[in-house]
Amino acid sequence: MRLKSFKQGIHPGYYKGLSENGPIKKCPSPKKVIIPLSQHTGAPCKPLVERKDKVERGQKIGEADAFITSPVHSSITGTVKSIDKQPHPVSGSFDAVIIERDESIEEKEWEKGVIDLEKISADEVRKKVREAGIVGLGGAAFPASVKISPPKEKPIDTIILNGCECEPYLTADHRIMLEYTDDCILGLKVIMKTVGAKKGIVGIEANKMDAFKLFLEKTKDEGNIDVELLEVKYPEGAEKMLIKALLSREVPAGGLPMDVGVVVHNVGTAVSIVEAVRDNKPLIERVVTVTGKGVNNPGNFMVAIGTPFSDVIEAAGGLKDNAVKVIMGGPLMGIAQSGLDVPVVKGTSGILVLTADETDIEEEVNCIRCARCVDHCPMYLIPTEFVKFARGEAWERMDSVNIMDCIECGSCAFVCPSKIPIVQYIKLGKLALRNLKSKKG
Ligand code: SF4
Ligand code: SF4
Repeated sequence: MRLKSFKQGIHPGYYKGLSENGPIKKCPSPKKVIIPLSQHTGAPCKPLVERKDKVERGQKIGEADAFITSPVHSSITGTVKSIDKQPHPVSGSFDAVIIERDESIEEKEWEKGVIDLEKISADEVRKKVREAGIVGLGGAAFPASVKISPPKEKPIDTIILNGCECEPYLTADHRIMLEYTDDCILGLKVIMKTVGAKKGIVGIEANKMDAFKLFLEKTKDEGNIDVELLEVKYPEGAEKMLIKALLSREVPAGGLPMDVGVVVHNVGTAVSIVEAVRDNKPLIERVVTVTGKGVNNPGNFMVAIGTPFSDVIEAAGGLKDNAVKVIMGGPLMGIAQSGLDVPVVKGTSGILVLTADETDIEEEVNCIRCARCVDHCPMYLIPTEFVKFARGEAWERMDSVNIMDCIECGSCAFVCPSKIPIVQYIKLGKLALRNLKSKKG
């Protein structure tokens, strides 16, 4: 079988065997959760509760009045202890609601309902998905209700369900595809119905053959759903690469998948959409891969949003003595953490604990102009230009070399023999450029 793919990209070590074989385990309910009021792209929430308020599992505790935003909910039943600045795994610190669990009360659970695909309306789906606080669970945390509300002038013909999980070490999506197959497929159908797309495609990388075969079998009578096998290559799961690989469509520079008639959703997001629409369950927990040689029992865990990393690592047997680095996400696009008191947020796909021998400690040296970074960039950018302009603080020139098209995949830094932290320069450049533009109005 010919595998679909895109040009360029990299082939890093994957290390998925550490965590991909066991079923998803439940992380014990934490004594305390820290629920940040921003866990998504868009306007941060304002708290709907005050100190000493009693809250129930699933209760909405923060929301904002904006189109691009997502409400937050309590993931346990208990009492609000405080609302103040707390450590945040993405932004360093942010306002959060701290809730202590009331152990005398049994936690609320949601019964499985049914979805009548014939009767359910697009507006009803969008409303429920928004109310439930569903965001993209692949990492970007973009509000799902916005993604399923394309403007009329951008008709959508195809929904892609993203089961690539191309980032090394992470296996949460793999386990979701094996254990929640029916809900993944139902979620795809709900999204297709909502945006009026005639075609659905499930894209799975060839290192998850068990999931591929399961989806093939379960969709064999679905005339409008294809299951496609993709080459194991990084960043195969990036939206623009996936669209190119599966449909040979090119998302224009600065554009979105909807510009070429496509919406891409992660498999975990599809399951959360089903739980919101069918069961009225908000996004209060997610599957997190806890892995790396620095943790005793790697695996996948269902974790309440707001659980401190320390509790999740404890559920995975705790840290080994030689653990040196903790990353939220995978090694290529993840974010290094300075402590374990940060909470799991909606975008936490993994907690990776590395040992010294897995960590790159080589010093950065001068660029040798080998062009390996250029040859591997999946967006056909010139990373050396970003480094040059960032070092010279020539922020406006970064715009002319299309820095905003960079998807921050890290392929350039991965292949760089001089160990230049190219993505750090790119992030710095994007931030400076955004600040400049907002000052100019
Ligand atoms: S320049 Fe951006 S898109 Fe290209 S390889 Fe580097 S991080 Fe990825
Ligand atoms: S890969 Fe590194 S050393 Fe080679 S051209 Fe790019 S920045 Fe320079």
